[in-house]
Amino acid sequence: MIVHYHELALKGHNRDYFEQCLIKNIRTALADAGVRQVENLHSRIRIWLPPEAPPEVVRERLIRVCGIANFLPGRVVPLQLANPNLDALTTAVFEEIESQSFTTFRITARRADKRLTLTSMDIEKALGAAVCARTGRKVSLKNPDLTIYIELLSKEAFCAAAKIEGPGGMPVGVSGKIACLISGGIDSPVAAYRMIKRGCLASFIHFSGRPLVSRASEEKVHELVRHLTAFQYDSRLHVIPFGEIQREIILNAPAPFRIVLYRRMMVRIAQELARKEQCWALVTGDSLGQVASQTPQNLCAIEEAAELPILRPLIGMDKREIIDEARRLGTYETSIEPDQDCCKLFVPPHPSTKTRLDDVHRVERMIDIFALVKRGVENAELTELSFPSSAASREAIAKPDRPR
Ligand code: ATP
Ligand code: MG
Repeated sequence: MIVHYHELALKGHNRDYFEQCLIKNIRTALADAGVRQVENLHSRIRIWLPPEAPPEVVRERLIRVCGIANFLPGRVVPLQLANPNLDALTTAVFEEIESQSFTTFRITARRADKRLTLTSMDIEKALGAAVCARTGRKVSLKNPDLTIYIELLSKEAFCAAAKIEGPGGMPVGVSGKIACLISGGIDSPVAAYRMIKRGCLASFIHFSGRPLVSRASEEKVHELVRHLTAFQYDSRLHVIPFGEIQREIILNAPAPFRIVLYRRMMVRIAQELARKEQCWALVTGDSLGQVASQTPQNLCAIEEAAELPILRPLIGMDKREIIDEARRLGTYETSIEPDQDCCKLFVPPHPSTKTRLDDVHRVERMIDIFALVKRGVENAELTELSFPSSAASREAIAKPDRPR
C-alpha cells in the first residue's frame, strides 16, 4: 500500500514532523489490522500489511487519517534501477487486474527515482501493450474504465488498480490541541471536524442542562464524540452539569440577555478546562446570523468573556452547506435526534439580538462569576474515548516486524 500526502509548503523540520505524525497516526488507525511496518519513503509512505488484513477495514481506517491525500492498495515487485526488467512488474499488473471488469484502461506511471533508465512513458507504453495483448482490452487515455497506477521506487516497483481519496488536510497532532464546545446539534461536530482535519487534537466540552433537563443531549454528544474519535484516536470529553449555574443567571438576568450570559459563562468554564489541557483555542459551531446568539453584536459580547482565541470554522457557511458536510461526515443522523438543549431554558422566543456590553456587565456584577466558574470546572465529568483499540495493542504495533 502506498500513501500520498500533500506536501506543498512543507519544508525542513516541519516536513519531518508532519511525516512522523502521519506515520504514527497510520499505525494507530491500523493497530488491530496487523500492520507490519509503516515506512517513510520521503514524499510517500509505504504500509506493509499481512495478507489476512481485511481490505475493507484497512480502507475504512485510512479514509479517516487526516493528512492522507490518497492511497493505492496494490502489490510490490523488485526492480533494478540500472537494468530494469519489466517481467515481474508485468506479472504483478496481470494479477492486480485479474478480478477487475473493464473495457478500456490506461497505465499511469510515476518515477520517484529519476536515476531509473526508463521514463514513465516507456513504462506506460510497455505495460499498456502487454495488457492489450493479454486481455484484448483497449487503451483510453481520457476516460478509461480502469486506471492502473505504477510507482517506480528506488529498488522496486509498485502497482495498484485503484486510487482511494483520503480526507486531505494535516495529520492530527501537528497543530496542537483545541477545546471544542459541542452541543449535540448539527454544527458543532462539523466545526470540530474542520479543526481536526487541520491537524488539531480536539478536547470536547459539553454543557448539559442537568438537573433541569434529561441526559438526552449527553448521550448524543457521547455518540458524536465516538464518531469523531475515529479521526483522532484519543478523545477527552468533559460534561458540565450547567442547570444550577443557569438558575443563578436566571435569578439576576432579564430574559432577553440570558442566552448571551449563558454563553459567556460557558466560554469562561471551557477556557479554564482548555488551559488545564494546554489547548491554545476554543472552537464553536457558530455561523453568522444563524440564530440570535450568532448576530454580530452577540458574537462580540460573547467573545469579550474569553481570553483564549475563539475559532469559528463555520462562520461563513450556510446551514445547507453545514448539513451537507454533516451528512458526508456521518454525524447528521445523530445530531437531528431530539434532545433538550440547555440554551433553550428560560429564554424568550425572541431574545436580544443586539446585546450591549454595558448591560451584560451590569447584570454580571450581580452574579458571583468566579464561584460559578469554579463550580462548573469542579463538577466537570471526564470520559476518555479511544479508537480503534486499547493502548496495549498500539504499544505492540509500535515495534514493527521486518517487512515481508
Ligand atoms: P449547534 O448545531 O452546534 O448546536 P446551533 O446552530 O444550534 O449550533 P447554538 O445553539 O447557538 O447554535 O450554538 C452555537 C455554538 O455554541 C455551538 O455550535 C457550540 O459550539 C456552542 N454551544 C451551544 N450550546 C452548547 C452546549 N450545550 N454545550 C457546549 N457547547 C455549546
Ligand atoms: Mg445548538
